[in-house]
Amino acid sequence: MPVDTAMLDEALTVGHLPALVAAMVHVTGDRSWLKDEWRPQYVQLSRGETGLSPEVDAEIRAALRAAIIKYLEGDRKLPPGPDQATVRRMMDFVAGEPIPEAYADFAMDELSIAGASTKDPQFEQPRLKEAARKLKVLVIGAGMSGLLTGIRLSQAGVTFEIVDKNPDVGGTWYENTYPGCRVDNSNHMYSYSFEPNHKWPQHFSPQPELLKYFQGIADKYGLRKHIRFETLVEACVWDEAKDVWRVTLKGKDGKTETVETNAVVSAVGQLNRPRFPDIEGRDTFAGPAFHSAEWRHDVDLTGKKVAVIGTGASAFQFIPEIAPKVGHMTVFQRNPPWGLPVAHYHENVEEGFKWLLDNVPFYDKWYRFYLFWTTTEGFLPMVKSDPTWNGSPGAVSQANAELREMVGAYLAAQVADRPDLVGKVVPDYPIGGKRAVLDNGVWLAALKRPNVDLVTDKVVKITPKGVVTADGKEHEADVLIYGTGFQASNFLSFYKVTGKGGRELHDVWGGDARAYLGMTVPGFPNFFMIYGPNTNIVVNGSIIFFSECAVRYIIGCLKLMAEKGVAAMDVKKAVHDAFNAKVDEANKGWAWGSPHVSSWYKNQFGRVSQNWPFGLIDYWRATLAPNPDDFVLERQPEPVA
Ligand code: NAP
Repeated sequence: MPVDTAMLDEALTVGHLPALVAAMVHVTGDRSWLKDEWRPQYVQLSRGETGLSPEVDAEIRAALRAAIIKYLEGDRKLPPGPDQATVRRMMDFVAGEPIPEAYADFAMDELSIAGASTKDPQFEQPRLKEAARKLKVLVIGAGMSGLLTGIRLSQAGVTFEIVDKNPDVGGTWYENTYPGCRVDNSNHMYSYSFEPNHKWPQHFSPQPELLKYFQGIADKYGLRKHIRFETLVEACVWDEAKDVWRVTLKGKDGKTETVETNAVVSAVGQLNRPRFPDIEGRDTFAGPAFHSAEWRHDVDLTGKKVAVIGTGASAFQFIPEIAPKVGHMTVFQRNPPWGLPVAHYHENVEEGFKWLLDNVPFYDKWYRFYLFWTTTEGFLPMVKSDPTWNGSPGAVSQANAELREMVGAYLAAQVADRPDLVGKVVPDYPIGGKRAVLDNGVWLAALKRPNVDLVTDKVVKITPKGVVTADGKEHEADVLIYGTGFQASNFLSFYKVTGKGGRELHDVWGGDARAYLGMTVPGFPNFFMIYGPNTNIVVNGSIIFFSECAVRYIIGCLKLMAEKGVAAMDVKKAVHDAFNAKVDEANKGWAWGSPHVSSWYKNQFGRVSQNWPFGLIDYWRATLAPNPDDFVLERQPEPVA
């Protein structure tokens, strides 16, 4: 069939050239595409700018054009795939730098050229299949991690049920419906590694698209029949005599039921319980007051006086959306966000780009690989604390200070015409201290609007009429919106978990949640958490990657139990404690661990209880499979009725 050359030409102006060149090695079987002079030298903080001259770009496009037409107008048969050494060269080419040997297996796995990955459940042996059939697992949460667990459990042949408090799947993407809510990781990477979506409408799509993706996943994998919606978990109690968890569920009708299960996977996320600030008079406000995660779509903001408390990642997204329609807005800011320049943050994925994803074999894999590699550990060195740093506390190293200078100048330039804002919009804490946001200019444009005031005086009181600041001024408002974040360090706050010896998990934690690899806690056998303590990432990668690693490990634990014929596995305290000591020490070495930073990453004791302080590769390696020596393995299993 003749190729739509107009579409192809448009596509080649927007496609990612290094990923297309790698795809051509598959299409033509010719390794000579990987020319040194075509190798990209990416420009930092750009949208994949290759740093090549316009002449070289044009040469690559012309070669791609001819090869793609030849393939599409030919029999479309692909030659035998490239050998391992060639794939390694292709990875180096697309990454724009040699991938260190230590990363080779990790990068190869992420790429999964042949479709297989270490993250696939390995339950092929009949004996394991038989054992899997007898296992029953309860998953708490039907968000991104819970659905993923369901997919992997069903692939392994394990019986499972998922419960969720909401009436539909999606978790955070179901709950956060505030105007402007969107993903802040490139969507072609923020999707399951085994479920690429060529139809993402934007590079960072809005929330309804993310929800649609996860709903589609639930349908495609037949997960809905396994899910009890509008059901709350009240308690999980370990039955030491039978080695099973008894889980009390409360349905929408208020009735409770207790189910027995061999293992529990808690996939409830870190950011699902809104946090309201402890401000005097908070309940006295006369008008509608709500949190960003519980957006009141029934409250018409048109022409209203609106007060917003908080300028974190959520407020950063909804303030520019609502500013044009409100009468007046007062934004109360304690600390400004660091906005990293991402010009295409709100841009549509071009039709040509989608066409390439659909029509050029392996382009999707190599584009994802490019996104993955350049965000994997790419930014981490910039936020690493240098113990010898003796510059300003607004940075943690020379590299961090240089980045600060560049981004600070970028932010300041946007308000050059507003001297009153200059001193307010550039943070004084280091970049990487808190979650940086992606900035395409709409944030500061909103704050510059004539109907918006940015107030940096401390909020001291809320009255029926508005918000009072430390200078004694009452800022009147009809509607009050809290963009004040979540009770992140209060892990699993809405249900009790009673393990061995009748010890309750929250009592064990005492407000300072810890786990081994974020997943298991001594004394709580067969209880696994996804996105548990110390598994959040600040500047590198996508949290979906982390969930995929965690689920691989959990499925590996079930496999280990099946192989060894044991009913329960309980992580050893010494292993858990040694791991946590390493985590705590390492967290001090990053911008977010700086004593000059306060954020939701730190708990009430000032300990960083949220973040993973190592590279992605370290989590990938640590979660390849459980080490049996890390666990106390207990007794023969008894099937659960
Ligand atoms: P957040 O980042 O914790 O921001 C809360 C904001 O409220 C901060 O500006 C905080 O100021 C402010 N605040 C809290 N108490 C206050 C008080 N008493 N007075 C004045 N200001 C107060 O919460 P979030 O914006 O909901 O974001 C939470 C996390 O969710 C993010 O870090 C990110 O991981 C995730 N998120 C992701 C996306 C996305 O991917 N698109 C979008 C939204 C959220 P301080 O900075 O001074 O503490």
